[in-house]
Amino acid sequence: ATPTAVMVATGVGANNGVLIKGGDALERAQKVQYVIFDKTGTLTQGKATVTTVKVFTEMDRGDFLRLLASAEASSEHPLAKAILEYTRHFQFFEASKDSEENNDGSAMSAWLLDAVDFSAIPGRGVQCHIDGKRILVGNRSLLTENGIEIPTNVENFVVDLEDKAKTGILVAYDSELIGAVGVADPLKREAAVVIEGLKKMGVRPIMVTGDNWRTAKAVAKEVDIQDIRAEVMPAGKADVIRSFQKDGSVVAMVGDGINDSPALAAADVGIAIGAGTDIAIEAADYVLMKNNLEDVITAIDLSRKTFTRIR
Ligand code: ADP
Ligand code: MG
Repeated sequence: ATPTAVMVATGVGANNGVLIKGGDALERAQKVQYVIFDKTGTLTQGKATVTTVKVFTEMDRGDFLRLLASAEASSEHPLAKAILEYTRHFQFFEASKDSEENNDGSAMSAWLLDAVDFSAIPGRGVQCHIDGKRILVGNRSLLTENGIEIPTNVENFVVDLEDKAKTGILVAYDSELIGAVGVADPLKREAAVVIEGLKKMGVRPIMVTGDNWRTAKAVAKEVDIQDIRAEVMPAGKADVIRSFQKDGSVVAMVGDGINDSPALAAADVGIAIGAGTDIAIEAADYVLMKNNLEDVITAIDLSRKTFTRIR
C-alpha cells in the first residue's frame, strides 16, 4: 500500500474509534490467524458482582463479611472491589437498622477490622492477619498451598458456582475454611457475534485467563470458543502467545489489564480495550476506543482492504 493508503486507513480507523499506532501494525493485522482474548474485562464486562455468600461454620454472616471485607480492603483486584461493594451495602443496611444516625463512608471504614501483614499473591488471592490470626481469601491453590484442606461440601459448592460461569472465592480464617463467595461477571453483549464473525473470516478465536478451568469452560461455551488456556499465571499470558507463534502463525491478543501488557507486546498485533489500564494501552498496537469487540473485526477488515487492493 502507498503511504497515502496507510494514512487514509489510519484516518478511517480513527473516525471509527480504532486507534492504529503505525503502518506496520496496520499491515500485520491482515495476516492474523489467531485472536487470543483475555476473559475478564475483555470478553466480559469487567463488572464483577457478588451473587452468593455462604458461611460454612457457626459464624454470623455479618462477622464473616466483616472479616472478608477487612482482608480485601487493601487489594486493587476487581474481585476485591466486588466484595467491598457488596459488604458496603450490607454494612449500610445493618447500620441503618439500629441507628438513626447518618451513614457515610466513614461508617464503613470504622466497621472494618485492622488487617496486618497484608500481601497480594498474583493469580491466587490475598493473605493477612486479623486479630492475630491468619486469613486467606482466594482460589483453591491459595488454600491448598497453605496447607488448608477443602472439604467435600465446600468443593461441591464451588464447583456448582463455576459450572454457572461464576468465580468461587474461598475464605480460610485461623486455618479453618469458614466460607465462600460467588462472583459473576457477565459477557459483553457483542462477544458471541464477534467470535462467530471471526470464525467466518477464517480466524481462530482463543480464550486465556487466570481464572480456573471450570469457570473458563463455562464462559467459553457461552461464546462458542473451543480453544482455551486457563489458570494462567499473570506472567504466563505472553508464553501462551509465543506458543501459538512457534510455527510462524500470526497472532493477535486482545486485553485490558496490567496482566495482559506483556502478552499485548509479544503478539504480532496487540489490541487494547480503551477502558483498560494505561499500561495495556501503551503496550498495544491498536486501541479500541469504543470498548466494543466488534472493532477487532473492523481492525482486521481495514487492514485486509488496505493491503489486498494493491497486491
Ligand atoms: P484474571 O484477571 O485473568 O482473571 P488473575 O491472575 O488476576 O486473573 O486472578 C486469578 C485468580 O486468582 C482469580 O480468578 C481468583 O480466583 C484469584 N484471586 C486473585 N486476586 C484475588 C483477590 N484479591 N481476592 C480473591 N481472589 C483473588
Ligand atoms: Mg482482563
